[in-house]
Amino acid sequence: MKASTYIFIGPQGSGKGTQAKFLVQKLDAEFVEMGGLLREISGQDTDFGRHVKSLVDNGFLLTDEDIEKVLSQKLSQIDLSKKIVFDGVPRRIGQATFLLKLLFDSGRSDIISIYVNLPREETFKRLSLRRVCEVCKTPAISNGSADQVCEKCGGKLTVRKDDTPEAIAKRLDLYEQDTLPVVDYLKEKTKLVEINGDQPIEKVRTDINQALGL
Ligand SMILES: [Zn+2]
Repeated sequence: MKASTYIFIGPQGSGKGTQAKFLVQKLDAEFVEMGGLLREISGQDTDFGRHVKSLVDNGFLLTDEDIEKVLSQKLSQIDLSKKIVFDGVPRRIGQATFLLKLLFDSGRSDIISIYVNLPREETFKRLSLRRVCEVCKTPAISNGSADQVCEKCGGKLTVRKDDTPEAIAKRLDLYEQDTLPVVDYLKEKTKLVEINGDQPIEKVRTDINQALGL
């Protein structure tokens, strides 16, 4: 059987990361998750590692060239006979054209894009409820109570500095400006399925499996 490639795309807070992990498990696939990859690389004691770390630490976005370097490197390390699931990339058209070229050039023409869609208001609401424990850094979701503490250690929960309403609005603007065009591009170049992300996790999971015929 030909190895398939799956590309998850959608706004932050849509739950696509969780769904991507479910799919990786189900298919025993290789997983290319850009956020984790960048954290891993920024821990490496190399010129590129230090370069990535300085960008990530200061909240700057990597250039498309940097992302391309990370992608080429990762793809040279994984088992290409297996299925591959991508999450967190591509976020811009430049990254999308590069990734598809890489995949097509390596004979991976069976590409399925999974667009987990969520209305802007709902995305905003979900991101506004995110908290993190001040002590052990475990993420949490606010239940609206001011007395809520960390489930793990009982520590105080706080809003991350990049989750202020202004910062969230800015990220969503950027998503609409840079990433939504990628959805159209993937629709044109790959088989794209659109999934309603405004549902419980288990329902989204079922919808994805059904759309993929799994
Ligand atoms: Zn804690």
